[in-house]
Amino acid sequence: HASAPGLGSWPSRRARIAPQRPALVEGERTLTYAELAERTARLAAVLAERGVGPGDRVAYLGVNAISVFETYFATWLLGAIAAPLNYRLAAAEIRYMLGDSGAALLVHSADTAALVEAAGADVPVLRVGPEYEDAIAAAEPLADPPVVTLDDPAILLYTSGTTGRPKAAVLTHGNLTWNTVNQLAHVDVVSTDHALCISPLFHCVGLGQVTLPTLFKGGCVEPLASFDAGRVLARIGEAGITSFSAVPTMLQMMVEHPGWESAKLDTLHTVLYGGSPVQERVARAWLDRGVQVQQGYGMTEASPGVYMVPRGADADRPVSVGVPHLATEVAMLRDGERVPVGPEPAELLVRGPHVFIGYWNRPQETEAAFVDGEWFRTGDVVRVAPDGWADVVDRVKDVIISGGENIYPAEVEAVLVQLDPVADAAVVAVPDARWGEVGAAYIQLREGSEVSEDDLRAHLEAHLARYKIPKYLVRTDALPRNATGKVRRVELRHRAADLVPDAERSS
Ligand code: ATP
Ligand code: MG
Repeated sequence: HASAPGLGSWPSRRARIAPQRPALVEGERTLTYAELAERTARLAAVLAERGVGPGDRVAYLGVNAISVFETYFATWLLGAIAAPLNYRLAAAEIRYMLGDSGAALLVHSADTAALVEAAGADVPVLRVGPEYEDAIAAAEPLADPPVVTLDDPAILLYTSGTTGRPKAAVLTHGNLTWNTVNQLAHVDVVSTDHALCISPLFHCVGLGQVTLPTLFKGGCVEPLASFDAGRVLARIGEAGITSFSAVPTMLQMMVEHPGWESAKLDTLHTVLYGGSPVQERVARAWLDRGVQVQQGYGMTEASPGVYMVPRGADADRPVSVGVPHLATEVAMLRDGERVPVGPEPAELLVRGPHVFIGYWNRPQETEAAFVDGEWFRTGDVVRVAPDGWADVVDRVKDVIISGGENIYPAEVEAVLVQLDPVADAAVVAVPDARWGEVGAAYIQLREGSEVSEDDLRAHLEAHLARYKIPKYLVRTDALPRNATGKVRRVELRHRAADLVPDAERSS
């Protein structure tokens, strides 16, 4: 392993192959691979001057931009560990993460200056802008980069915090490299690609699905500071965008945007998405436009890809997550035992060279996350058909147990959104004196749409067994979502507890 190249060497190695090809585009600005390699090597020297060495953490706070990539590659060149932070978090959470990661330096964008100030973090900072540019201009490229192996940690990537406090997954250079290999084995990313990077780079979908594979192949990546459905649709036609990776809510917002019908999408050859369940009608809308949308399933801990729909697969199973990646092994946990995957729903286990080495500073959670020492417990219930295609049923933690029967909220939600007036729905468990738990459905209607509770119930009764039908149906203006588009179920469960009449609370 000692001679295997770390991620920090990617820009210079690509520059040897094709120095003048564009690597990154931001607004009017383009960086070639030669320029990216040069700036990265200079920035690495700047970081080293500020005391960053192998194994140290370099935090980054800011929207998608060229400087995110420069900071990651410079950090990796030094054998240090990147620690990107979610800029949508509150100051107290940022402070917690800076402390948790023990960052030696925080690189941040100008527009997060107030957040950094409010976080009151006791960490040296480098602000992107004139200070950053002057430092790069004045530096000599790092002379002797240390040897970085595939076993060295590359990034602390925080999970989305859907089931609790975000945990930092430690991903090695090898983990991210193997995820890249896996993606390339499944997806036709090529050196002439012009990929949009619209998902945030502090999250595994933004980093791992399309972005790193495109840079590995020598293609061009265009980071967008924020997601705007209309702008993305327009940009695809304007720049001849070939590929991007998104979370399902982004795909839905584009389909529902007034610019959808007239958008020019013919240059798109690869659209990957994942991170939460997709509505069947959204997947179909893209497939009907002739765009190869491929659903992926994974998690931060797997760098992230585990399953993906094969390219060119027919649209018979529009919400399936496809087959495992090439270098990925899967199994199931049934009654505490590891067994081969099969059609009966059970928790998925994953093993492979892209699976993380543990949670940062959390030895107990790390131990609990693996069975037999090396199989990662995904926390997701899946079912796998005889041909290897999988469907994600739901999270283990979200399953509602009602009168001894398992209810998977995702199944109920998928039935609710079949009704045209229903834009979105989320079902959570509430305590119940008689059944132990029952479901409460939060329902968001399309603007200007109406539907009666009787009609909702009639629809549910026509499609679901009685015990699966939520006891409570609640209208909501919008479902609470986190930065990666996931429904914040913890918050909904909290809200739903108030629905239960005192007399029916279980003791
Ligand atoms: P936390 O681990 O902090 O609770 P999280 O699990 O949401 O948050 P991520 O690593 O961003 O953090 O998300 C991975 C999870 O997202 C998976 O375990 C799975 O539950 C869900 N997921 C990912 N892809 C899909 C998909 N295609 N369909 C359904 N669910 C998905
Ligand atoms: Mg998780």
